[in-house]
Amino acid sequence: MSDGFVDLHVHSTASDGTFAPAEVARLAKASGLAGFALTDHDTVAGVAEAGEEAKRLGLEFLVGIEISVEYPRPGTLHMLGYGVDTASEALRELSVWQVESRNRRNPRIVQRLRELGVAITMEEVEAMAGSEVVGRPHVAEVLVRKGYVGSAKQAFDKYLGQGGSAYENRQRLPARRAMELIARSGGVAVLAHPVQLATENDAQLERVVKDLVDLGLGGIEVIHSDHSAELVEKYTKLAERFGLLKTGGSDFHGVNKKEIQLGVANGRRIPRGMMDELLKRGGRRGFGVEETMNDER
Ligand SMILES: [Zn+2]
Ligand SMILES: [Zn+2]
Repeated sequence: MSDGFVDLHVHSTASDGTFAPAEVARLAKASGLAGFALTDHDTVAGVAEAGEEAKRLGLEFLVGIEISVEYPRPGTLHMLGYGVDTASEALRELSVWQVESRNRRNPRIVQRLRELGVAITMEEVEAMAGSEVVGRPHVAEVLVRKGYVGSAKQAFDKYLGQGGSAYENRQRLPARRAMELIARSGGVAVLAHPVQLATENDAQLERVVKDLVDLGLGGIEVIHSDHSAELVEKYTKLAERFGLLKTGGSDFHGVNKKEIQLGVANGRRIPRGMMDELLKRGGRRGFGVEETMNDER
């Protein structure tokens, strides 16, 4: 049975979405979807909760993650990993690497701010974070608290966000390493929203895809909210030429991206067959919900 529609690119509060993982599952049900994958940025912290609720509601569920990969500006390379084993050593390595990369960035941000005449210290930021992983939201809170800005949003616009005067690029994982980690955790690597690679022409796009195929790429996200009908067609052909899976998702973020509705990508729905193919390709533990419950690091 492959009727119905799914959404294979969804964010929750485990990263930068505004719906809790279980709420996403309920919304998927209410939206009439047959299933979905949770693909939070650089974390699988929400998949157990989402998967449990999906199961209760009779929805198909797929474990996912979206990893930010090193790539020359102005492009962005995000790699989706589907069916990763959340208890795997590879994913543990990934989260350690990410915490370290944030820890290297925070002092650089504070230093920049001080150069701009903003008198804050790393100690204040750490105190604000308490037991949480220290990150830019905590810097923003300190800036608000000390009256340098009126809101966290203003802190990001003026200082901390991309284009802000104290912006520091976070170190990204090299593609080879990201794909090796997905493979080692038993997942399928899928190139997210290729339009965001911002390649100059088709030849360059093909070269990037070819390089990724050599590193073990398994699929391309052909349907996405940023993809026009022409692009969907172009990426579909590209995937077929390389013998890759075709996937699709809305990149839902809740009210953080209000124009995007769960299950709808630029007016297009995502056929369930795309999810079935991923499940078939995986055919291993980690896709099911039960086996991924013993996550809690
Ligand atoms: Zn992305
Ligand atoms: Zn995304």
